[in-house]
Amino acid sequence: MSGFAGHVLALAGGVGGAKLIRGLALQLAPAQLTAAVNTADDFNYLGLDICPDLDSVTYALAGLNDEKRGWGLRDETWRFMAAVERLGGESWFSLGDQDLATHVLRTARLREGASLTEVTGELTRALGISVCVAPMCDQPVRTLVDTGEGQLAFQHYFVARRCEPVVQAFHYRGAQAAQVSTPLADALVRPDLAVVVICPSNPFISIDPMLALPGLRARLEHLPVPVIAVSPIVGGDAIKGPAAKMLRELGLPVSAAGIAQHYGPLLDGYVIDRSDARLAGSLAPLPVHATNTLMRNDGDRADLAGAVLRFAEHVI
Ligand code: GDP
Repeated sequence: MSGFAGHVLALAGGVGGAKLIRGLALQLAPAQLTAAVNTADDFNYLGLDICPDLDSVTYALAGLNDEKRGWGLRDETWRFMAAVERLGGESWFSLGDQDLATHVLRTARLREGASLTEVTGELTRALGISVCVAPMCDQPVRTLVDTGEGQLAFQHYFVARRCEPVVQAFHYRGAQAAQVSTPLADALVRPDLAVVVICPSNPFISIDPMLALPGLRARLEHLPVPVIAVSPIVGGDAIKGPAAKMLRELGLPVSAAGIAQHYGPLLDGYVIDRSDARLAGSLAPLPVHATNTLMRNDGDRADLAGAVLRFAEHVI
């Protein structure tokens, strides 16, 4: 435990974000942390409401995630998917047998009229998680990707087309009509809010959909507490996923500096990898802290979270 005083609001996408959320949870009391999670890559599949980023964060906090595969649950089996294939059903997105329970229960509760915030609370509590995990909003927001091949729905671009088409722009359909979820709105007005952490997630497909919600970006910019991002780019490349490719295709520097340039005046502080320390000068006057940002295990995750919290205490 870090001894950090105050509340932490963390914004996260899936796997990269989930690692730092887990680190923060190891450093803070559960009541000190709100994890607001991207829902713009949610989709309906086989009649089920799938929320990949919420599930990644939930499974990581519960310690049930599969570290080797990088997504989904540990000790997973795949008999449901094999049966779907045998019956000639859609099978481009793999749902594990245990994971299926999450999607079935969530879909049933949503059909009954519960909000995604309520369902997420129920599922996380059932797994013994006391940290508040909140969807960014309760209304559907969907990422659309403008590419050289036309506009593609996010999962089509990401899974079916394996991020191959060149990206030109992103749209977050529904964002303007959505509202930040109640737990996210509550965290923003807490008198003890001490820092907002933008996790090392993909800025274009995990963080920007949140910033597109009405008023959120302006609220964050005017908060009297620091907004600190952790770079998802280490040594000129992404640890996983298309973040580096997207930076290149959008004409931004393929480095931690490109991410800072993209977030612009939103950031009050920036944590980059030690191997990128030489970039700090070029980022001035943005306060920069260089440390190990590769999170291979819980020790790394807790260390990085501790470093972010200590840095936050020195950034106004
Ligand atoms: P996704 O929804 O699963 O793609 O997950 P996110 O949007 O949360 O994160 C993807 C980003 O996380 C990628 O750009 C990765 O480079 C970054 N990432 C993954 N693991 C790590 C890590 O251990 N350290 C850092 N700094 N970034 C990471």
